[in-house]
Amino acid sequence: MSLKYEIIPVTAFQQNCSVIWCDETKEAIAVDPGGDVDQITARIRDLGLKLVKIVLTHGHLDHVGGTEALAGMFSVPVLGPQEADAFWLQALPAQSEMFGFTHTEAFTPDRWLNEGETVTFGNQTLEIYHTPGHTPGHIVLFSDSARRAWVGDVLFNGAIGRTDFPKGDFNTLITSIKTKLWPMGNDVTFIPGHGPESTFGHERIANPFVADEMPIH
Ligand SMILES: [Zn+2]
Repeated sequence: MSLKYEIIPVTAFQQNCSVIWCDETKEAIAVDPGGDVDQITARIRDLGLKLVKIVLTHGHLDHVGGTEALAGMFSVPVLGPQEADAFWLQALPAQSEMFGFTHTEAFTPDRWLNEGETVTFGNQTLEIYHTPGHTPGHIVLFSDSARRAWVGDVLFNGAIGRTDFPKGDFNTLITSIKTKLWPMGNDVTFIPGHGPESTFGHERIANPFVADEMPIH
């Protein structure tokens, strides 16, 4: 498998920032650099990688707080989330005050991402899915060849994302999980925004929020 990745938990919320790279070219992307930029930078340098892009799953502070610093350090573009999350990125100063983070300026990414688009680095291609519910512009990244999905705060090992934020919606989130994630395949391992990895197949059996109904005979 020439796609490799390492998870770096960042911020007080232990958000799973991922550095994903093509082992053939060493080109890498950083997904959701929420903070602790020094730590992310050190791993990129230790692994001998060339950072080429930053990708954001959604506009929450613990996922995006280190974006501007990291983008500036490596002079790389910022992609995603989907444009419906623009209001969250504009609210970053208020988010940082609310959660007691250092002040974070509002920003607009270089490119919004939409369903059906792709993100490339080295010889790797990630497919973009629009998965609203936790936030309206949330996106998920899928590597068909590596059987891995980066799902942000849509789905966790044993839980689902919160839907009590502005423009969050429980039924929309459940629909996103069942119509966008499940069709990727039960064998797919997903990297959530917080906590340990799991597979979609395992969640369809064990996750109390989204497990398939048991057939009644
Ligand atoms: Zn979130």
